[in-house]
Amino acid sequence: MTSSLLPTYARADLAFERGDGAWLTSTTGERFLDFGGGIAVASLGYNHPHLVAALNEQGGKLWHTSNLFQIPQAERLAARLVEASFADYVFFTNSGAEAVEGAIKTARKYQSVCGRPEKFHAVTFEGAFHGRTLATIAAGGNPKYIDGFGPKVEGFDPVPFGDLAAVEAAIGPQTGMILVEPIQGEGGIRVASPEFLRGLRQLCDRHDLLLVFDEVQSGVGRTGKLFAYELYGVAPDVMAIAKGIGGGFPLGAFLATREAGKGMTVGSHGTTYGGNPLATSIGGAVLDVVLAPGFMDHVALMGLKLKQSLAELKDRYPAVIAEIRGEGLMRGIALKVPVNEFAAAARAEKLLVIPAGDNVARLLPPLIVGEAEISEAIARLEAACARVEREKEHGRLSGAPA
Ligand SMILES: *Cc1c(COP(=O)(O)O)cnc(C)c1O
Repeated sequence: MTSSLLPTYARADLAFERGDGAWLTSTTGERFLDFGGGIAVASLGYNHPHLVAALNEQGGKLWHTSNLFQIPQAERLAARLVEASFADYVFFTNSGAEAVEGAIKTARKYQSVCGRPEKFHAVTFEGAFHGRTLATIAAGGNPKYIDGFGPKVEGFDPVPFGDLAAVEAAIGPQTGMILVEPIQGEGGIRVASPEFLRGLRQLCDRHDLLLVFDEVQSGVGRTGKLFAYELYGVAPDVMAIAKGIGGGFPLGAFLATREAGKGMTVGSHGTTYGGNPLATSIGGAVLDVVLAPGFMDHVALMGLKLKQSLAELKDRYPAVIAEIRGEGLMRGIALKVPVNEFAAAARAEKLLVIPAGDNVARLLPPLIVGEAEISEAIARLEAACARVEREKEHGRLSGAPA
């Protein structure tokens, strides 16, 4: 098929027409169980009545006014995020990359107004993903995303994920922050240990560094806590969120403590669309559901069921599955067969999963999934395992990539 879209994606030959809950219907009328959630974005699934109502209500009144005026919807959403987190301030963005970029700028500006402008460097981590702007590709460090795009933005010093000694060794006179995903998403659902994150907090406190968490994927209920940092009892100074907060509408934010945000004064940063009435109305509706009593318990319970079922599946298919990873409804299946082949096999069983680094298939179902849907997903994963095992026996698969 010829396309006028810039060919930066290898798209599956599949398009969807409508969605309901965790289910998508293709343009050819086939129903798929979506355990990818549009990459952790459809946090409440598709066609959620409360989100549709918020969209229609605000959509019929006012979409956009610019940040030159008061935006009551943004004020309310910010106040609720502050109430529910470590933060004192929120800045709304349109994407995850813009949120991370703003978080990096906030930390750099903090060091600068503290009289340490030379401390603009960040210790970052191998396997990280922070977005596709020039600074965030430099922060992510993946050569595939950096090469050919001119000089790499200066100031990002990668070390192995989980290696506290390497972090300590990388801290120099120019270091001003540590930027980390508590759970690496694109990198393959690699979960930081509590000791590691606590160690990062201690290093930041000892060296006057800001701890910056990228919770664009792990935030907004995904792990069974509103934010993944709550699993660890370690609070950052600055945090980026996006994906789940909009429930499918483009919305992100960075959050900061009063101290960490003190350099971000009038004129220091801005956005035209960010935090507009429509986006923040929908974000507010997402929070209505996620913060309702019992909802996080539901996510944690479903996450546990998913984890246990996946562990049993691994025992039944040791030649296909190497390891199960993750927290809550952010799970990874580390594979012994190529992840793209596995995702295709799952798709043949009408189940959507998302390939990640480290040869991992990601499961990021809507947070509203029930037990029946988890059982259905496991049955389809089982069929996908049997399918790839058969193909492996017939020599049609090359085995796990190097
Ligand atoms: C998706 C993601 C981003 C980038 O978000 P965009 O909305 O694609 O710009 C940044 N950080 C993490 C951890 C992500 O998962």
